[in-house]
Amino acid sequence: MERTLIIIKPDALQRGLVGEVTSRFEKKGLKLVANKMVKLSDEVLNEHYAHLADKPFFPGIKKFMMSAPVIIQVWEGAQCVETVRTLCGVTNARKAAAGTVRGDLAISMQSNIVHASDSKETAEKEVKRFFKKEELFKWDMMAEEYLYAEGEA
Ligand code: ADP
Repeated sequence: MERTLIIIKPDALQRGLVGEVTSRFEKKGLKLVANKMVKLSDEVLNEHYAHLADKPFFPGIKKFMMSAPVIIQVWEGAQCVETVRTLCGVTNARKAAAGTVRGDLAISMQSNIVHASDSKETAEKEVKRFFKKEELFKWDMMAEEYLYAEGEA
């Protein structure tokens, strides 16, 4: 089963949108298999955004990503990488389609709520960058015997 990594960025935390963003992936039918809160370091951001190192906005994006903790999650599901990118919308939140996370919740190119891995290869690298093996969970949908269990009097 395919996996992808998302980072709920500092703007989402500041604006109280962590639940809203997480909920969109849950409602889509994807499975949450890892979840943690961290303060990103300069070193890890140099690695994570290496493809942007020569851009004028590179120092700005790093400063923004370190301005508050972030939530990092791994989601699992069929064609998960593409599905999550579609749910997030394009980078520039102003141009992102209505109905997407960025299109509905942000108005900035930089502060665009969420990072999502852009390919299966990147996803594998990013999952390894942020999670140890034992932090990734295997679990099955709840069996009916638990779902309908009656509490003891
Ligand atoms: P994406 O996050 O959509 O995969 P990129 O990898 O190109 O996009 O960029 C990483 C992040 O850098 C973006 O999500 C955004 O926060 C920021 N960013 C990209 N382009 C700009 C820009 N021109 N000005 C400011 N920030 C930018």
